[in-house]
Amino acid sequence: MADTFRALYAEQVEGRPRVALTTLEDRALPPGEVTLDVAFSSLNYKDGLALTGKGKILRKFPLVPGIDVAGTVRASTSPRFKTGDAVFATGWNMGESLWGGYTQRTRLPADILQHLPPGLSLKQAMAVGTAGFTAMLCVQALEDAGSLKSGREVVVTGAAGGVGSVAVSLLAALGQKVVASTGRSELRPWLESLGASAIVDRAVLAEKGPPLASERWGAGVDSVGGQTLATVLSQTAAEGAIAACGLASGPDLPVTVFPFILRGVKLLGVVSVLVPMDRRERAWKRLVELLPREKLEASTSVVPMSKLLELAPEILAGKTRGRVVVDVNA
Ligand code: NDP
Repeated sequence: MADTFRALYAEQVEGRPRVALTTLEDRALPPGEVTLDVAFSSLNYKDGLALTGKGKILRKFPLVPGIDVAGTVRASTSPRFKTGDAVFATGWNMGESLWGGYTQRTRLPADILQHLPPGLSLKQAMAVGTAGFTAMLCVQALEDAGSLKSGREVVVTGAAGGVGSVAVSLLAALGQKVVASTGRSELRPWLESLGASAIVDRAVLAEKGPPLASERWGAGVDSVGGQTLATVLSQTAAEGAIAACGLASGPDLPVTVFPFILRGVKLLGVVSVLVPMDRRERAWKRLVELLPREKLEASTSVVPMSKLLELAPEILAGKTRGRVVVDVNA
């Protein structure tokens, strides 16, 4: 292979970030122990914020965006990895201050890379990506809180998005009665095929209700935040728990303390970026065991890197469905 490669490259021009598809030479690669031939990356909400400049995600220039990466080791000075190994990484500030996945070649520190788990392809690892990994962390947080044992319904907000769709599949695989909250009623058949037993219109949860409403949810995964999360908390049954990981509708949380002090409801914050390696490996092992591959396949679209700038506003507008895998070589 020639020593040039294609990448989405973010540079600061007159004080503002500018991202463009460009051809780079190997000497542009950052320092690191492991050089990768990248196969796939993915598009997450945070990537949408980075590529559109709507969020201050890019913190170093020049930089390759993309918070997920999967590929094959091209060269390594680390004893943990050898040429030809299939590896991946999510988070770790990639696409923020470390080179991310929107490139045909990259170089990364060895300690953020994971070997591909048996039973998963590079493409499937990126179909899971940060969003799916976060969904797994949310489900594990609910399990650890003992909140998946009540037999009550479990709500997933932003169900048609990346985190939401994987959360629906995982919770259904665990035998939970999953209620998917979505603004896209046309996606009902697909959400039901992932395992949702009922659908609730997201407009219903976005409405302000009483500080304590009738008890409905035993648990929930929320990627939406704002009034939706407040309403979900007010409807959560005694000793239930909600795992909160996102802000697709906004960062505010207009809630009272009543669900917490009168029902013992637990609000579990979930973050995926700097999770230590042992917790990551446990979560990925669970993902491999639990997540039905045909559901992952049915929730994934594959796009070329050249389409990313077009797609970035769409994920922020909640218009992409499920997970978007990026083929960097297409
Ligand atoms: P997606 O865009 O794929 O999914 C978000 C979903 O939220 C949309 O598909 C839509 O679902 C719903 N939605 C969008 N806009 C609104 C709105 N205004 N009001 C209510 N619902 C809305 O994004 P991801 O799944 O990648 O990420 C979801 C959230 O989770 C983001 O805020 C992201 O930053 C956060 N996140 C956090 C992580 C962490 O480590 N804490 C890691 C990964 C993601 P529908 O059409 O079904 O209504």
